[in-house]
Amino acid sequence: MDFRSELVGCFSVGSNGNPSVEMVEAAFRHHDMNFRYINCEVTPENLGSAVAGAKAMGWVGFNCSIPHKIEVIKYLDGLGESAKIIGAVNCTVLRDGKFIGENTDGKGFLTSLQAVTNPLGKSIVIFGAGGAARAVAVEVALAGAKSIVIVNRDPTRGEELVALINSRTKSQATFRQWAGMFEIPQGIDIVVNATSIGMNPNSSAHLELDINSLQPNMIVADVVIDPPITHLIKAAQVRGCTALNGFGMLVNQGILGIKYWTGIDVDPEPMHERLRQLL
Ligand code: NDP
Repeated sequence: MDFRSELVGCFSVGSNGNPSVEMVEAAFRHHDMNFRYINCEVTPENLGSAVAGAKAMGWVGFNCSIPHKIEVIKYLDGLGESAKIIGAVNCTVLRDGKFIGENTDGKGFLTSLQAVTNPLGKSIVIFGAGGAARAVAVEVALAGAKSIVIVNRDPTRGEELVALINSRTKSQATFRQWAGMFEIPQGIDIVVNATSIGMNPNSSAHLELDINSLQPNMIVADVVIDPPITHLIKAAQVRGCTALNGFGMLVNQGILGIKYWTGIDVDPEPMHERLRQLL
């Protein structure tokens, strides 16, 4: 008998609305793993103590969500390669007694995208320049995307992301300020909503996007998880595009986190199933 479980979890504000605990524990149960995922409400002023506490209690790692993905870096012992470029951490892993920050958001997105296409040589439009957009843009760029158009309301954040992609990857990025209805330019292969538009409780919100500019050969992805079927996903389906909702990204970043923490490749299906039951 072993009465002590290995511990991982998540630190965020608004943790009540985060379904990751159910998704990850579904994988632990399915594989009969003696691990627990603890979903914690941690305010910014307590983040340093929470990280020190996790280390003191022997946690093997933890996720960070809003608003800690950037601030957590100062409490960690080092960063993985893409977390360094992205400048944000959503998954911390204990390695040789050190907490190392990784970013699995973009890698999770990439894995779900790779199930339908290889981004190598593709032209991509990404709406947003926040944490999710930075992670997605850096990973698709590192995976060989030819060109990336960043469309964002705030030009400073948008230009910053474009400069990051152009200086740290081989992709060519350009910025388009999002003011009014946006038309997807000719020659685009993949369209990604990496903003929070359409997320509950504002699920009726629409992207200012001319739906008629979506072509059937395009892949349209939305990072929003709740609801999984956003207006954009519905519009993409109506236009005959291949549509990817936010579950794939969420499940794949969960699988990567579990692999980092436990060394085990888990089956995605029980995780998808638990999310479908809940959302
Ligand atoms: P941030 O707050 O870092 O960024 C939000 C982005 O959305 C910014 O680019 C912001 O533009 C834009 N935005 C928000 N509201 C509007 C609006 N009304 N009009 C135009 N632009 C708007 O959030 P995150 O990047 O962390 O999260 C974004 C989404 O990604 C959330 O829905 C989150 O749940 C989801 N997510 C999903 C994951 C998954 O696994 N599926 C993983 C991580 C996140 P501006 O810069 O102009 O303010």
